[in-house]
Amino acid sequence: MEKTDVAIVGACAAGLAAALTIKMRSPSTKVVLFRKVSNTPVPCGIPYIYGTLKDVNKNIIPDKSFAPYGLDIRVSEVTDIDTNAHEVQYNGGDRLKYGKLLLAIGSVSFVPPIEGVDLENVFVIEKDPKHLNIINAKIQESKNIVVIGGGFIGVEMAEQIAKLKGDSADITIIEMLPRCLMAALEEEFCVRAEEELKKLNIDIKTNSQVTKL
Ligand SMILES: Cc1cc2nc3c(=O)[nH]c(=O)nc-3n(C[C@H](O)[C@H](O)[C@H](O)COP(=O)(O)OP(=O)(O)OC[C@H]3O[C@@H](n4cnc5c(N)ncnc54)[C@H](O)[C@@H]3O)c2cc1C
Repeated sequence: MEKTDVAIVGACAAGLAAALTIKMRSPSTKVVLFRKVSNTPVPCGIPYIYGTLKDVNKNIIPDKSFAPYGLDIRVSEVTDIDTNAHEVQYNGGDRLKYGKLLLAIGSVSFVPPIEGVDLENVFVIEKDPKHLNIINAKIQESKNIVVIGGGFIGVEMAEQIAKLKGDSADITIIEMLPRCLMAALEEEFCVRAEEELKKLNIDIKTNSQVTKL
C-alpha cells in the first residue's frame, strides 16, 4: 500500500499553510494533501470576484505554484479514516497509509433559521466556484440586492456589488447590531466605515433583525 509521512485532508488556507511549513522545515518529508474540489477559491478574495475581478476564475488558488515545494495535491474526497490502521480512503476505494494525519476540512456557513431562507434568489456565501458563479450571474441581472449581515463579509460583498452596479441597483445592508462591523470594531471605526458605504449609495439599516423573507 502507498505510504506518506503526512496526509492532510483539506488543501485550502490551513492545509496548504501547514504543508508548506512542513516542507520548509523538513524538505524530505512526504506530504500528500486531499481536496474534494479541483479549483478552490481564495476564500478571502470571494467578495472581490463581484466588483473588482469580475470572474470566479481569477480568484482560484494556483496549485501549480506549490509544485516547487514538492506538495502532492490530490483532487479527491477522503471518505473514510481508520485511525487504528493509520489509513485514509479516497477516490472511492484507494487507501493511503500515513504517519501523521492533519484535518483541515474548513467550515460551512451557519444559516440562521429565518423563515423563507430557502426561497429562490436567496444565497449563502459558500467556497464552491460553481455556486459563486451562480451568484455572479444573479448579481448582474438584479436591481434590488439585500445583504443580511453587516460583518466583514457582508460589508465587503455590499461594497463590491456597489462598485459593479453603480446607480443601476439599490443595495441595502441589514444588520441587527447598532452599527455595521460592531462585532469586531469600536464604534468610532464603525461610524467611519458606514460613512464610506453610504458614499457608495448603500442603504444601511441597523438595529434591524431579519425575521422573515
Ligand atoms: C467570503 C469570505 C471572506 C473571508 N475573508 C477573510 C479575510 O479577509 N481575512 C481572513 O483572515 N479570513 C477571511 N475569511 C476566512 C478564511 O477564509 C477562513 O478562515 C479559511 O479559509 C479557513 O481555512 P481552512 O483551510 O481551515 O478551511 P477552508 O478554506 O474551508 O478549506 C477546507 C478545504 O477542505 C476540503 N475538504 C473538506 N472535506 C474534505 C474531504 N473529506 N476530503 C477532501 N477535502 C475536503 C474543502 O474542499 C476545502 O478545500 C473569509 C472567508 C470567507 C468565506
